[in-house]
Amino acid sequence: MFKHDPSDHQENLQNGYPPLKLVNRKTETERTVVKVAGAELGGPDIVIIAGPCSIESKEQLWAIGKSVKNSGARILRGGIYKPRTSPYSFQGLQDEGLQLLSWIRKELNLPVVTEVMDPRKLELVCQHADMIQIGSRNMHNTPLLTEVGQIRKPVLLKRGMAATIDEFLFAAEYIVKMGNEQVVLCERGIRTFETSTRFTLDISAIPLLKRLCHLPVIVDPSHGSGHWWMVPWLSKAALAAGADGLIIEVHHDPTRALCDGGQSLLPDKFQVLMEELKKLAEVMGRKISV
Ligand code: PEP
Ligand code: MN
Repeated sequence: MFKHDPSDHQENLQNGYPPLKLVNRKTETERTVVKVAGAELGGPDIVIIAGPCSIESKEQLWAIGKSVKNSGARILRGGIYKPRTSPYSFQGLQDEGLQLLSWIRKELNLPVVTEVMDPRKLELVCQHADMIQIGSRNMHNTPLLTEVGQIRKPVLLKRGMAATIDEFLFAAEYIVKMGNEQVVLCERGIRTFETSTRFTLDISAIPLLKRLCHLPVIVDPSHGSGHWWMVPWLSKAALAAGADGLIIEVHHDPTRALCDGGQSLLPDKFQVLMEELKKLAEVMGRKISV
């Protein structure tokens, strides 16, 4: 048993929730490894996920996909159903993007992760993607969590932007309770009083989640800051704090991106970052998954 038992945390809950049963770590060594095609999250190696915020066209997807793969990304990200604040903003290619997902994963031999918001789309998207992302705005959507709990694909669960650690863990519990144990947690920044950054990346969430829970923990420094130039700093901070991976937005022409250009790294900057991460991983006694 732990010296300071992480399950004590449950007794400290102010809100009177029943304790976690499945995602809480019960022994010091308990760790879940989530496999996405050949990439293993939660094992000794650090997995980098990268790609555009939104898939915009075949040409855009090819340019970005090829470059992030060459730089060492193991999983390609790309949204087709976009949760936008304004209904007048680009909503993603929607169903038209599905074929592009299938095409790029085959063409590059790279697994893809994409967000699903509507449970009615889940079955369809599962035919085209290797990992299903539940976005920050849907972390509290229990019918959606219950549905992804019934698929047999890995799930990338992002922290709600106003969710406590307990709420985040209970959201993961909803998925695992339904039988899908392949869940990766993603810290992506929370709302604070600070307005200079898009969100405040909660670095302390990383060791905390890894202490309380056996699921892999990755970090999204792009949404976490909203500034492309901050992404390398926060990526390194996340690795130093024990993250099992990163999900990073990359765009070859960010000023013309249809979504989140200001927080997207140019491909050459992403490549430089990958080189820095390799060195840092070594210091951490880990390596970047290749
Ligand atoms: C995304 O990763 O595409 C996204 C919309 O992120 P979040 O749900 O964290 O805002
Ligand atoms: Mn984005």
